Amino acid sequence: MEAVYNPSLMHSCRSEWPPGCTTSLHTHYQKNMRLGIISALHEEQAGLVEAMEGPAKLIHGKREFWVGRLWEIDAVCVLSRIGKVAAAMTATTLVEKFGVTHILFTGVAGAGDKTIRVGDIVVAESLVQHDMDASPLFPRFEVPLTGRTHFQPDQQLSLRLSGAAHAFLECDFLETISETERQAFGLAQPRVHRGLIASGDQFVNDRLRIDALNGALPGLVAVEMEGAAVAQVCHELDVPFAVIRAVSDNANENAAHDFMRFVKSVAAQYAFHITKRLCRHLVEAPLQPRSESAGM
Ligand code: SAH
Repeated sequence: MEAVYNPSLMHSCRSEWPPGCTTSLHTHYQKNMRLGIISALHEEQAGLVEAMEGPAKLIHGKREFWVGRLWEIDAVCVLSRIGKVAAAMTATTLVEKFGVTHILFTGVAGAGDKTIRVGDIVVAESLVQHDMDASPLFPRFEVPLTGRTHFQPDQQLSLRLSGAAHAFLECDFLETISETERQAFGLAQPRVHRGLIASGDQFVNDRLRIDALNGALPGLVAVEMEGAAVAQVCHELDVPFAVIRAVSDNANENAAHDFMRFVKSVAAQYAFHITKRLCRHLVEAPLQPRSESAGM
């Protein structure tokens, strides 16, 4: 089987997918991958841990790491908790203690642009720490002594992730999100966006603040509190990663309204089914070794 990305496979709606593959075949193809999956909130992680085969709980740094297999992928699931330090600590531990080869961050975010709606999905093409400002010593947003403002996720993994997100919206969305919740949150035809995600230690719930960030950061699609910290750690440790977020709010004065309801009834379903589709596709068509896939 050739390890190539085939977008048509990603859009298959078959529930038993890929068909006709044996476990030993999966194991053989995935022996070099250990996927670390980080969630910021408990509700987003619970379903993944329940779906794990042979889960073992290990505690380190006041966090529970769940090690097992998820849809034939060797995986470690962990709750980062909220904020950049928490996320950086979690990502570092996943790599250094648990030997993960790839990291996936799933969570929710505020819309970073007026064209992006609650219920849409954003996949990071690039990440920036919006509260990093050591000016005038360094340019605004630059992480001092790295020479960088933006950190790029792995192109292959991100492409797979947006494929899984598209397939989720086309095939699973209506089945998994009840009509009541779709109406409550005005989820008509959610879309997938790729672009810049900005992270900071601040829950953005102010129209002026989000407009200012949008003006200062071209291509902004979402704001959240962890992704760019994971991105910096993965850059420094040379680990491929990807970030996906369900848009829970508009980062304005209403942002906190119904936030937890959205996380529980919508975002948790998104995270579960998209991760499932991603894992299955990684089994069907493993990623190319990194040297063969140029960065973004
Ligand atoms: N109300 C929650 C706190 C959520 S903090 C509680 O009581 O537990 C917000 C979380 O969602 C963070 O993990 C962050 O990454 C993401 N997020 C969603 N919308 C956001 C916004 N508008 N600004 C910043 N982070 C946001």
